[in-house]
Amino acid sequence: MHYTGACLCGAVSYAATGEPTMQYNCHCRDCQRMSGAGYLPIMGFPQAAVAITGDVHWYLRTADSGRPASEGFCPTCGARLFGQGEGVPGLMLVMVGTLDDPALFRPDANIYTRSAPVWDAMDGAVPAYEGDPPADF
Ligand SMILES: [Zn+2]
Ligand SMILES: [Zn+2]
Repeated sequence: MHYTGACLCGAVSYAATGEPTMQYNCHCRDCQRMSGAGYLPIMGFPQAAVAITGDVHWYLRTADSGRPASEGFCPTCGARLFGQGEGVPGLMLVMVGTLDDPALFRPDANIYTRSAPVWDAMDGAVPAYEGDPPADF
């Protein structure tokens, strides 16, 4: 159980068992706005594999795809830790920057690169997709 993490103030923490089923850098506008950064590194685990401690507030929104999604954040410090949505059924997305050891992240792909600003330098060794990765990725 080495995928553990917490928000800025520590009121919300989590532990994920097993390995992530997806690891992306998402460059979409929603992730830019939610993170305040050029892109957002995210990991996805089966929902049942993530144990959350503390109260999480969920912000409900409509994703670019038109499907409902929700963003989980700490009501005390405002740090965003989690995401869920119909676009990623059954998955709990974890924001990599909240991990106790963010170096565990191994990005499989850069996605939504069409929204990346020109100053957003990417690792050319990581596959890049203008939108969603292909279904068989
Ligand atoms: Zn907090
Ligand atoms: Zn995104």
